[in-house]
Amino acid sequence: MRVLILGGTTEAVELGELVSQLDQVEVFVSLAGRTKNPKISNLNTRIGGFGGIGGLRNYLQQMQIEAVIDATHPFAAQISTHVAIAAQQCHIPHLILVRPAWEKQPGDNWIEVESIEQAAEILGNVGQRVFLTIGRQEISTFAGLEKIWFLMRMIDPPTGGEIPRGEIILDRGPFTWERDRDLLLTHDIDHIVSKNSGGDATYGKIIAARELNIPVIMVKRPPVPESVQVATVGSAVNWLIDLISQR
Ligand code: NAP
Repeated sequence: MRVLILGGTTEAVELGELVSQLDQVEVFVSLAGRTKNPKISNLNTRIGGFGGIGGLRNYLQQMQIEAVIDATHPFAAQISTHVAIAAQQCHIPHLILVRPAWEKQPGDNWIEVESIEQAAEILGNVGQRVFLTIGRQEISTFAGLEKIWFLMRMIDPPTGGEIPRGEIILDRGPFTWERDRDLLLTHDIDHIVSKNSGGDATYGKIIAARELNIPVIMVKRPPVPESVQVATVGSAVNWLIDLISQR
């Protein structure tokens, strides 16, 4: 069975490695190409967009893909929609592997918002020194907030657009909560902006914020397309094993 995994997450790397060990499976991995040195496995990997739904449909057909697992980031809404539509049009079984969102815990001070734009709007009224941890792609949304100083953490430097006033830290998780607490204290941070990405690798800042009673402007996730959904790598492997056994 020829399986396509849409990646860009730690789970996708782990899944690729496990699935490639199954008998009767040939794995192909697809990455968008956003990070310069992505965590990559030894599997067949293609990098770059497909050129929309039509391009993806062509790829699925040309490569004779028989199952698709969307293991992209919970905020990568466009590719997830494209995969769901293209898989349906090509009658290919499709699974979404999406890690659970973080749940608010006692002591958390979250201001939940629907979008990055809404986060910027709210921040304009309350923040002065802000830890902006949303990656690099959307930071220019905050560039108009000239009175705010931003500490911005991302894997690779920004490639275009206006950069908000402040300092950029280039770093890749996982981050411990103790280290994130020190970062918040050293830079005298009064607000954090985060996507509700879920998972352990970047949860340290949320724990540190709770400890220090710092408000977090938490961007809610976009909706997930309708399809079979699992929350763990193990469940995704089992889905595939079931699929193979039905052939
Ligand atoms: P997006 O907005 O959903 O996708 C934009 C376009 O990028 C897609 O239409 C597609 O181009 C291309 N693309 C995205 N993921 C792809 C993949 N795995 N393989 C091939 N093409 C892909 O995605 P995004 O938010 O920019 O995220 C890009 C990648 O970074 C994703 O793979 C995601 O897993 C990873 N990532 C995203 C975030 C985040 O916060 N958004 C965080 C960590 C990692 P075409 O239409 O040309 O096919």
